[in-house]
This record gives sequence, structure tokens and C-alpha cells, in this order.
Amino acid sequence: MATNEHEINRKRRNNHDSEVSSDIGDDDFTKLSLSPPGTTRPRLLSPTPRPPFQEILSHPPPQPPFQEIFPYPPLPLQLSPSHPLFMAPPPPPPPPLPPAATPPSQHRGRKNPASKPRAGKSPTVPAPFPWATTQRATVHSLHHLLQNQIHSISGQVQCKRCEKTFEIEYDLHNKFIAVGKFILQNKHSMRDRAPSIWMNPALPTCRFCNQENSSKPIISGNKKSINWLFLLLGQMLGCCTLEQLKYFCKHTNNHRTGAKDRVLYLTYLGLCKQLDPAGPFDVSVMKK
Ligand SMILES: [Zn+2]
Repeated sequence: MATNEHEINRKRRNNHDSEVSSDIGDDDFTKLSLSPPGTTRPRLLSPTPRPPFQEILSHPPPQPPFQEIFPYPPLPLQLSPSHPLFMAPPPPPPPPLPPAATPPSQHRGRKNPASKPRAGKSPTVPAPFPWATTQRATVHSLHHLLQNQIHSISGQVQCKRCEKTFEIEYDLHNKFIAVGKFILQNKHSMRDRAPSIWMNPALPTCRFCNQENSSKPIISGNKKSINWLFLLLGQMLGCCTLEQLKYFCKHTNNHRTGAKDRVLYLTYLGLCKQLDPAGPFDVSVMKK
């Protein structure tokens, strides 16, 4: 077990080391998009070797020239080219809530995307990053970001050893594919709880002292300003406190009770859903 965890950490570190460089080539996500859901056997998160991301990725099949058809890369996690997001832009974001109170009886459906702020709190906040919206704990969709030429997501980290801080940039598209693919391949074994690799994330290597697994993301003490997308792409959401994760869930889906592994899982799924609203990230679906 320990050996395998070490192996996993080593691989994750390698991912971090490559940072902006792509983990996954264009051919590979095209393959992912085209594969029927059943072709990759679900692998358990167990002491056996890691799900064969690299193995899958090292055999790119001949591909149709998607890039020539679409002005932006196809969204990665759609399983069929007939997926609605291929054909049409996503619906516009909902208008800000009117200040007037709505009748309480209308709040039964699952449409209510977030709990309402307490009285005296504005329903919106200044967007803390270009990739964040003015809704608390909410980021723009991948479609929106790529259309607006936002391709890399940056964040600050600090080395636990030399204490220097520096910025890391992640390639939005490639990193999101990596996260989504991990979820797709492991969701059955997760059982609605974050696996240990999410609970104890591998950290990037320090750019100054080269200490491995040492650079912790700097997480804003002001929860409105947490860089959620950066933490998702680096798979470092586990560095958040339970309270911070509950804040995310409170403002996005209301399932905010439970232990950290449960709330962390909901945070991962919730952020992926924000990025790819039509993607396979529904918690209720995955519970089955
Ligand atoms: Zn250092």
C-alpha cells in the first residue's frame, strides 16, 4: 500500500512538474470524446497500479480533424459528438436574483442552484479572478473561458521548506481533461467520497529549492476570493479546510454536511459541473 501510494505521488508530482505542458495531447481527448462509455473498464482505486491514463494516452488513434471543424477544442468529456454543447453555445447565465423575496413555496425543485445569501449580504461579489463569476464559489464554464481566450489558470503557492512564494500556471483544457478523466475512471470506487490522493494531494515541486511535494497553494482567508479553479486543476482542493469546502458547497449545492472526504468529493464534482454543465458530474446520478 505504502509503495503504491508512493508511486501515485511520484506520478502526480511528475504531472505537477510539467505544469503548463500538456499531460494529454489533442489526439487523446478526441479519443476520449469518441469512445463509447463502456470501452474503458472501470478500475478500482486499489493498491493495483494506477488507472492506465498514460497507457490509454500513448496509443492515439487516427483522428478526424476536429480542430478544423470547431473554432475551439471540443469539450473533453462529452461522450458523443451529438452532445448539445457541440452544436450550440451554452445557455446564458441566469440573471442576478431580484432583491425582492420570492414566495417560499417555489423553492422545491432542484433548479435552485445555491442557497440564498443571508439578509444584508449581496447576492453577488466582485469576480475575484477573470475565470470566476460574480456568484460566490462559481467559475465560468470551459466553453465560456476558451471562447474568451482564457487558456491558462494561475495561482500562488508557497514552499513549506524555503517559504518562497511563486506563481504556477495550469493549462485549463488539458488539466480539466485530466481531472475529468480521473473522475470518470474512478467514480464507481469513490462511493461519493474523495480518495486519499485528493485528501492528501501531491504538491508541486518548489521552483527555488527544488524540494518535491512542498509548494502549498496559498488559499485566501477571505472565502469569497478563493481560487477554486486553480485548486481544482492542480487537484489540490484537499488543501482547503473543511470550513472552506463547506462554504463552496453551501453556495453551490446545499449538500454541506458530512466529513471532509464527503464534502471534498462534492466540491470536485461541483466545480467540474460548473466547467462542463452537460458533463457526467452529477452527484445524484453517480450515487446509483
Ligand atoms: Zn522551496
